Amino acid sequence: MHIMTVFHNRSFNRTRAFARFTLGLCAGMMAITSAVGEARTKEKADTVAPSTAAAIAVRPVDRHGQLRVKGRYVVDKTGKPVSLAGMSLFWSSTGWGQEKMFNAKAIKFLAEDWRVSMIRVPLGIERDGGYLVDPEANKKRVLTVIDAAIDNGLYVTIDWHSHHAEDTPDAAEAFFIEMAQKYGKYPHVIYNVYNEPLNTSDWSTAVKPYSERIIRAIRKHDPDNIIVIGTPTWSQDVDIATADPIKIDPNIVYSLHFYAAKHKQELRDRAQKTIDRGFPLWIDEMGTVLHTADGDVDYEETRKWLDLVRKNKLSFNNWAVSDKAEGASILKPGGSPTGGWTDKDLTPSGLLMRDVVRNWPNPVPIKPR
Ligand code: MG
Repeated sequence: MHIMTVFHNRSFNRTRAFARFTLGLCAGMMAITSAVGEARTKEKADTVAPSTAAAIAVRPVDRHGQLRVKGRYVVDKTGKPVSLAGMSLFWSSTGWGQEKMFNAKAIKFLAEDWRVSMIRVPLGIERDGGYLVDPEANKKRVLTVIDAAIDNGLYVTIDWHSHHAEDTPDAAEAFFIEMAQKYGKYPHVIYNVYNEPLNTSDWSTAVKPYSERIIRAIRKHDPDNIIVIGTPTWSQDVDIATADPIKIDPNIVYSLHFYAAKHKQELRDRAQKTIDRGFPLWIDEMGTVLHTADGDVDYEETRKWLDLVRKNKLSFNNWAVSDKAEGASILKPGGSPTGGWTDKDLTPSGLLMRDVVRNWPNPVPIKPR
């Protein structure tokens, strides 16, 4: 079996363990060549291996590098399709108290314990103390998370978390220019220019022209990072958007959101048909519960969705790193804002998605714990 096949058949966890083992082996061999006695050899191997292993632990961006679109796939620096498993934070705005999660410790814990490969950072725009009324505070929270994600070698999606972005294109354009100037050189960064257009926003006359304007603005400063494009009806109408596709840039993906207890086979069929027509989709937000972000986990439909995501090598972010009292939150109310969560802190959705994300892309049992 080819060595890469071995890698892909095992969990990322095991890949890391294998890297550490290999490094330990190398350190051990180096020690053997330089040491005079068996005892001394052992001492050297023991002291060298752990620190060096930590330094080369395989972090997602170290492993995959600059992403780009190739046909229906997002591929990594080697040209291979990449499938990232991420967590979305909640709105950066203050209406729900979840801005407390926008800190470096939470991101580090998600990187190390949940083993996320991506973080999504929703910049709240219109509602409840959002960017339009309090730009500096919201931007500061978002920058904290972007910097923490980069420090941990994670991909990070900067999400214009709006339902009405075409109404304030000047603000979006200025924001994304600033982000592209600051972060365009980092392969970590992904831009989502429009979280969820409503079902009243027409693709061809409103969402598409808005998106093209923001793409052009970003590209003046960052020629290559992936740009996620929201699609009408809360980012479900990927079929409608791709019937009149954006042609001004090769590195764009179309956003598909699903909430498993609400969106089922009909949406999966539309998604698959769009993929089969050759378009790259991107699950910038998904939930295991209802589209209201509340209700019980729908295990059966979540399993069917994750099968589709895995089969097509799509990437996803799970909603949400939050302790708000609702089904989509990964934490029960009162969960620490700075990580350190154990099973007793997690909701049913949190328990399930930690297992899914930690082991991605390998399948895990999708059932109650
Ligand atoms: Mg770039």
